[in-house]
Amino acid sequence: MRIGFGYDSHRLVEERRLILGGVEIPAEMGLIGHSDADVLLHALCDAILGAIGEGDIGGHFPDSDPAYKDISSRELLIRVKELAARRGYIVNNADATLVLERPRLKEYIPAMVANIADFLAVEAGRVNVKASTNEGMGFIGRGEGVAAFAVVTLKSSRDL
Ligand code: MG
Repeated sequence: MRIGFGYDSHRLVEERRLILGGVEIPAEMGLIGHSDADVLLHALCDAILGAIGEGDIGGHFPDSDPAYKDISSRELLIRVKELAARRGYIVNNADATLVLERPRLKEYIPAMVANIADFLAVEAGRVNVKASTNEGMGFIGRGEGVAAFAVVTLKSSRDL
């Protein structure tokens, strides 16, 4: 059994789409980044990379590399899952928390869970996504950005 933790944050700006957990969410502002800036999927990538001792997302998909410009974070998470599989690990479960002031995400969370379960090739019951505000405090409270935290456990594929 391996455990990994991931954290990411991205800045909110106008004229960008807000994509969280692979779901496009209607909003006045979206996240800026080299990829689609899906902060939730990035935190999950880092959690999986951490669990297998493979550094971080920036090391695997550098933002200096034009190959990753505007790439869907779905592709990054699937590649990370495949790297874990080559190391002999599959996802046991994933839990994540998004922190943002608005919009409210409740109605979009089931679609995020379904996407993540699909990308990680696990049943939806092994994926949990939560959303919290930051009670108006700090950069998140001011609406300047969104953060995500993720924890995953992996199990050896040899135990199947
Ligand atoms: Mg990121």
